[in-house]
Formats: sequence, C-alpha cells, structure tokens
Amino acid sequence: MVRSVLVLGGGSAGYLAALTLKMKLPQLDVAVVHSKEIGIIGVGEATTVALPKVLHGYLGFDPGDFYRRVETTWKLGIRFLWGPRPYFDYTFGSQLDWKWANLGKFNGYYCDDFSYVDLPSALMSQNKAFARRADGGPVVGVNNYAYHIENGKFVEYLHQKALELGVTVRDEEVAEVLVNDAGIAGLRVASGAVRTADLYVDCSGFRSALLGKALGEPFHSFKSSLFNDRAVTGGWARGDEPVQPYTTAETMDSGWCWRIDHLDRINRGYVYSTDFISDADAEAEFRRKNPKVTGTRVVKFVTGRYARSWVKNVIAVGNAAGFVEPLESTGLAVICDESRLLAEALADSDGDPSPSMAAAYNDIFAREWDSIRYFLAIHFKFNTRLDTPYWRACRADLDLGTAAGVVEFYRENGPTPYAKTSVLGTNDIFGMEGYLCLLLGQGVPYRRRAEPSPREWQLWHGIRAENRVKALTAVGVAEAYRAVSDPSWRWDAAAFRV
Ligand SMILES: Cc1cc2nc3c(=O)[nH]c(=O)nc-3n(C[C@H](O)[C@H](O)[C@H](O)COP(=O)(O)OP(=O)(O)OC[C@H]3O[C@@H](n4cnc5c(N)ncnc54)[C@H](O)[C@@H]3O)c2cc1C
Repeated sequence: MVRSVLVLGGGSAGYLAALTLKMKLPQLDVAVVHSKEIGIIGVGEATTVALPKVLHGYLGFDPGDFYRRVETTWKLGIRFLWGPRPYFDYTFGSQLDWKWANLGKFNGYYCDDFSYVDLPSALMSQNKAFARRADGGPVVGVNNYAYHIENGKFVEYLHQKALELGVTVRDEEVAEVLVNDAGIAGLRVASGAVRTADLYVDCSGFRSALLGKALGEPFHSFKSSLFNDRAVTGGWARGDEPVQPYTTAETMDSGWCWRIDHLDRINRGYVYSTDFISDADAEAEFRRKNPKVTGTRVVKFVTGRYARSWVKNVIAVGNAAGFVEPLESTGLAVICDESRLLAEALADSDGDPSPSMAAAYNDIFAREWDSIRYFLAIHFKFNTRLDTPYWRACRADLDLGTAAGVVEFYRENGPTPYAKTSVLGTNDIFGMEGYLCLLLGQGVPYRRRAEPSPREWQLWHGIRAENRVKALTAVGVAEAYRAVSDPSWRWDAAAFRV
C-alpha cells in the first residue's frame, strides 16, 4: 500500500510529479529530495499545448498567477527554416487535417504556397499572438497555445507551489542508494540519514540514479534515428525586436538551431552531433549565425529510453526515464503524461497498483517515446536545405521505424489525413496534422497531384486573404502580456479543462 512517495530530483520532472501526486491524492505523504549543488538541467523553454492544459486544466493552477510569476510568453507553433521553402509553419491549429468549407479536397492539396492557411499561421506571419476584441483587448485563447518559459523561473514557480501544497522539500545530496528485493530500500543522504518511502519516483535527470544505476534497467538508444547528442546555448538581451510568438527551428551545418523569445531576452541553441562537428566548430558556427550571443554553455544529452520506466517500487519521470532531442519540445509534455498516469494508477488502485497496471504504464510510455522518436526522424530524413556531410548522412541512413508506413501512404496518396487510424501508431501525439505538415513543408513529393479548378483556387486564396486581414489588426505578445498582467484581468478556468 503506497502511503508515502519520495521523489528524487527537483527539476521540472521532480516538481511536476510531486505536485500532480499531491493535488490528486492529498492524503499521500510526498517528499522531494534534490541537490542545489548538483543543480537542474537549466534548459527546456518551449512547450506544447499539453503544459497549459495540465497546469491550468488538470491541476487547476491559476493562469494569471502563473504568467506573472514565470513571465510566460505564448507559442503558436514552430517556424521551420527547413527544406526547399523559405520557411513553413507547424501550428497547434488544424492546417492540414482539415478541409475548408466548399473545397473538394483537404487543405494540403492546395498548399503550393504554405502560409496563411489558418488563423494561427497568419498570426505567426504577422508576429501577433491573439485576435483583437471589439474593445481593443486580446482574445486570449487557450486551445492551440503553448508557452515559452525560462527553465529556472518555471522550476522556482513549481518549487513554491510544492511548498504551498505541503510537499516536503529537502536540499541534500543522495550519497548511496540502498537496494533490496522490492527495489529501493532507502536513500542515504550526505548527512548519513536514510530517507525511505513506499514508492520512489526517479527524477534525477540523465543520471537516472534509481532506475538506470541502482536497478540496472537496460537503456534503448535512439541513435539510429536521431544523431544529435549535444547543444551549445546562448542568448542576448532583447533590443527593439518584436517578441516572436513561435519557436524557430533553423537548419545548421550539422544540426539545427532554436530561437525562443522571452519578454526581455532571446535565447538560441544549436543542437548538433559530435560525430560531425566538434564543440569548438559548433560554437563558432553558432556565433557566426548569432553575433549578439553573449556567454555560451554546452549541454550534453543521450537520446533513448529505458526499456521500462516502472520497475518494482521505482517509477522514473523526465530525463531519468527517457529523452529525445528538443526539436518538437516534447520533454515537458511527456513529463505531464507520466505524472498524470502515475497519479491515476495510484488513485484507481487505492494505492495498491497491480503488476498489470505497471505493465500497462510501461507499454504506454514505450509506445509514446517510440512514436516521438520516429516522428522526429522524418524531420531529418527529408530536409534537403543543405548538402553537408551531416545532412547527407541523415537522408541516407536514418531509421524511420514505424513512420515509414505513414510516409509511404503520403507518397502514394498525397496530403490526406484519410488513413489516420490505420497508418498511425497508437499513442501518437502529433497526429496526421504533424506528419502532413512536416512532409508537405519539406516538399516531399507525392504521386497524385491535384488539379484544383479556378473556382477552388479563388476560394482558397480568399480564405488566406481573410486570415491575413484578421492577423494584421491582432495583438502582439508584449501588448497581450501587459493586458494579462493587470490584476483586474479575469480568467475562464473552465476553458482549460482537460
Ligand atoms: C538541450 C536541451 C534542450 C531542451 N529543450 C526543451 C524544450 O524546449 N522543451 C521541453 O519540453 N523540454 C526540453 N528539454 C528537456 C527538458 O529540459 C527536461 O526534460 C526537463 O527539464 C526535465 O528535466 P529533469 O527534471 O528530468 O532533470 P533535471 O532538471 O536535470 O533535474 C534533475 C534533478 O535531480 C537532482 N539530483 C540528481 N542526482 C541527485 C543526487 N544524487 N542527490 C540529490 N539530487 C539529485 C538534481 O539536483 C536535480 O534537481 C531540453 C533538454 C535539453 C538537453
């Protein structure tokens, strides 16, 4: 019977897991042990729509309070400087898994010019975040929006919330992990004290101190699909540049570079593979592209997942369970899922989860990680923008795994979401919208070209023009932030419900 839980780690995974457990099972004794000396990873700034939904809908944390404390900005999608087009936008809306009224085919067939397809993409093209109300204020949407947050500020917010909710937080380093037949028997901390609980949540980051090291769970590398293993990060204080309401992913010689806009800062990070470029050359290329960057930092990572993330009395959450590179900002989204399913397993079993529940949990996350791996792989397999050794190797050698079937279907039939339930794996978080966007955006050819009638083209361009006009008068990020920072701002908590 699980009455107490000990979370090892005070990064975003540790606090999100602890908060989810405490919110959903208030009777649980939840404690976090972390080490300020070891520190947190300090990166992880772009989210998917999962984070706002979980924070405000599932956990019920007030969005206004969150925006003010974390100084959040909004993300409508990712702008890819990728493939043969100057750019394409992958929004959180429905550009391609959608058919505008009166058109014969799904939108993708008309996307020779892939912009202004829906309102979010039009807003991105005009550097705007929200439509404008009649009284001049922003229509602050909740669906189809994600966040840009600085990792340190976010973790500090979660830490404070944990304390407010009665989670015990101790800053002490775990020096020894005690193991027995049930799994973990206790954590001996630097003072010599042994911390024990009925269940241990391993949120120790890439160290995977409990699942990987102490229990020896095998690690499955994703290297054959995802070559990158390092990032050099840096940024600069914002000047008079407008705040971009999207993450940029820009093709680089041996990887890609993100741009994430905060209110007072612009951060960039070059994600690369050390098989193709040295740290020094990556930093030099990063600085050439971003001359305003001040200090830089190199972050190492390993791509893959542990065979199981729930083993005996240990469940790993976050980087301790698995990691893929941040091209689709999936880290925090998976942590939200892991934390929620753990809380539900304990709730539904009255604190006594069966082996089959643990097996189901493991199966769900094995599939989720694998589907993310292969979705990311198509970003690299089809990017023809540069002809460097890195990109040539990506195009020639990358393992597409289960995504290969989706690509084949697209090549044969074009940008239709027709077979989403047959060609997509279960637990796929991107859907046909994601696949079609990446395949069409990168100009992957397909066999059956559509020949829309003049009337269809007129309708199509009319819709794009309407989206553009709406976006021209919309509200930018800085103006929207000023509006929501006013304490008189009212939130519709029900809109976030999941
Ligand atoms: C380059 C890069 C970019 C990323 N960008 C994004 C992004 O844009 N969006 C996104 O969603 N995700 C992103 N991620 C992933 C994201 O940063 C992480 O998934 C997320 O922050 C979770 O980290 P964590 O809590 O698992 O680990 P960490 O932040 O590393 O926390 C580990 C914790 O364990 C503690 N600990 C470890 N060992 C001990 C010990 N022996 N004793 C006591 N305490 C210990 C540490 O003190 C720390 O508190 C990125 C990751 C990388 C590498």
